[in-house]
Amino acid sequence: MTQIAFIGLGHMGLPMARNLLKNGFAVTAFDLVAEALSAFAQDGGKTAASAAEAIKGASVVVSMLPASRHVEGLYLGDSGLLQQIVPGTLVLECSTIAPDSARKVHAAAAAKGIALLDAPVSGGTAGAAAGTLTFMVGGKAEDLEKARPILAAMGKNIFHAGPDGAGQVAKVCNNQLLAVHMIGTAEAMALGVASGLDPAVLAEIMRQSSGGNWSLEKYNPWPGVMENVPASKGYSGGFMAELMTKDLGLAQEAAQATGSSTPMGALALQIYRMLLKQGDGKLDFSAVQKLFVE
Ligand code: NAD
Repeated sequence: MTQIAFIGLGHMGLPMARNLLKNGFAVTAFDLVAEALSAFAQDGGKTAASAAEAIKGASVVVSMLPASRHVEGLYLGDSGLLQQIVPGTLVLECSTIAPDSARKVHAAAAAKGIALLDAPVSGGTAGAAAGTLTFMVGGKAEDLEKARPILAAMGKNIFHAGPDGAGQVAKVCNNQLLAVHMIGTAEAMALGVASGLDPAVLAEIMRQSSGGNWSLEKYNPWPGVMENVPASKGYSGGFMAELMTKDLGLAQEAAQATGSSTPMGALALQIYRMLLKQGDGKLDFSAVQKLFVE
């Protein structure tokens, strides 16, 4: 049986690790938060007291951490995990981080004979729970073939975006677009409701018209329009606004590095910073709706 070490049992990592268990993999997990570990243990997963302990005997390591600094902190440096992972191990780094940071970790892994893929995901917490995530993979095609059965236990669509870091580039482009259509959806919902429309009626009209998009299909930001989305649960769960703000910052870094013009992405970053300034950074990113409501 394939032994997998899973590092980072947050909103995404916990349901992803659960799906690995359900698909018959042996998973030992580690997170800094005790509640996350006990939630995984309740599902029958094994837990470890440190990342170093979790990787013992594992042929695959999966990590799902907040941002670049956490990933670099985990893998790099004298006490980093790459010093302890056995050559030949496959590492699937699924967090959304800066492409340059991903390339740094790739290079350090290659120097140790460790195969690593950057494999960020899309599909949100619902996709993580249902095992229908989209993986955007950067790295060698032959390593992706080895990873495929593991990724398939957590996701539905698996794309090879290109070489080292390419998965992160695709992810950053996608999330910039997601932020833009979420803000546009929130703004249109607020305009319609302020003008007297029923939010559910307006949402359905736009969903089936030329304004239709993923936010209207799966993640309406207006409370009560859809069941089981963060907007209908006080904007809890889901994808934190502070993580979306991080991704929009990564998009701006990429724009700077390539001389690309991204005015919508720049504005989206400013709007999300306003949401963070009013203390809503821990809420789901659809809470951007609050900026448009009295
Ligand atoms: P989260 O903050 O809920 O989870 C991150 C987890 O990592 C936390 O439980 C934290 O305790 C743990 N952690 C941090 N440093 C650690 C370390 N050194 N060792 C062990 N555990 C550590 O975040 P999330 O929503 O699960 O997102 C994870 C990543 O996935 C982020 O990069 C995010 O941008 C990306 N993402 C999130 C979503 C979403 O809808 N939430 C969707 C797609 C991609």
